[in-house]
Amino acid sequence: MIVILEPDIDKRGEDYNRLLDFLMNLPNIQVRVHEEVGAQQTVTEIYLVGDTKSLSEEEIQRLPGVDRVVRVSQPYRVLGRHKNDQRSTHFEYQGLRFGQDTLHVFAGLCAVDTPEHVERMMRALQAHGQVCTRMGAYKPRTNPYSFQGHGKACLPWVFELAGKYGIRVIAMEVTHESHIEEIDEALERAGRPTGVMLQIGTRNTQNFELLKAVGRQQEYPVLLKRGFGITLEESLNAAEYLASEGNRKVVFCLRGMKTNMGDPHRNLVDFGHVPVVKRLTRMPVCVDPSHSVGGRGRSSDGILDIFHVTAQGVIAGANMILVDFHPDPPKALVDGPQALTLEELPHFLEDVALAREAYLRRQELAARHRGSPRGGEAGGGAR
Ligand code: PEP
Ligand code: MN
Repeated sequence: MIVILEPDIDKRGEDYNRLLDFLMNLPNIQVRVHEEVGAQQTVTEIYLVGDTKSLSEEEIQRLPGVDRVVRVSQPYRVLGRHKNDQRSTHFEYQGLRFGQDTLHVFAGLCAVDTPEHVERMMRALQAHGQVCTRMGAYKPRTNPYSFQGHGKACLPWVFELAGKYGIRVIAMEVTHESHIEEIDEALERAGRPTGVMLQIGTRNTQNFELLKAVGRQQEYPVLLKRGFGITLEESLNAAEYLASEGNRKVVFCLRGMKTNMGDPHRNLVDFGHVPVVKRLTRMPVCVDPSHSVGGRGRSSDGILDIFHVTAQGVIAGANMILVDFHPDPPKALVDGPQALTLEELPHFLEDVALAREAYLRRQELAARHRGSPRGGEAGGGAR
């Protein structure tokens, strides 16, 4: 059971202390307090775990300081969407709204290689009105002799260039707890010219100690990739690890499943799960067409498979796109064969906008046929 308190409740006040005292004395119930500090207000939620069946929602609802009570109906207590759950489905970071109602494109380098390539990428993004990118500094590679990423050495110039070109958020994978600190230190030293969304790769979806470490900090939001060979439920539980440690600024990323059934794509594209994740949880959902498709196949309609699956994700309501680009793909140190070129960027963005418009119209159509106003949250339109 989740007890949501009145916004900005005074933690030293009488109401709060009486309420906490009452809840702590309930038999066979553990109490966990979670505080979410937002730009406008601080929301405190109290999670009651244990034998909650016998508790009366009405009784708890009437206690001083309580705004509302939500009964947990999903294993994902914090990030799940429960019955009559009106909790928000978005968060803010770097002045941007990340929600189940918005769309952001994170086009960029799979792996940071040279300052020249990073600069060309960021210049192109700025020229096309983009404020987010992806830049891999720490690369988890199948082969130990493959390029492992420049690691912390590249962070100062990557962050400086991001600031120069107005990039506000960089999706950057971390493969070890120490990388969080390295990123934080480099950002601090550079004067925080940009922000970072910490990415947890598909190989680490169930690296529980990494999840806990990333979840313990609330400075940086997290992009969690779906595990390539585990069930959706297992991956959603992995996301819950982050939230249970305190960080609920989590975006869930579909990136295809490893199976030869997906051939000739690198992975079997799973973007049909976009609406499923959106209804099971309150997380915005990202799609990664590059690591799903893994190549530049183009069918007789003249459209690249990467464009096709991106559109499929967006038309199903995806909220973020993580996509590999490179100014000179043959020279890319990682994943060159699946990289789009800078010349393809405007085409890609226009195609995304088209699919987004179609999604919004489909949403209106569904509302019209249901005879009710559009579901979900209002505001925060498409980018
Ligand atoms: C990546 O996005 O660079 C990456 C390695 O993806 P994944 O973890 O999905 O393989
Ligand atoms: Mn890659």
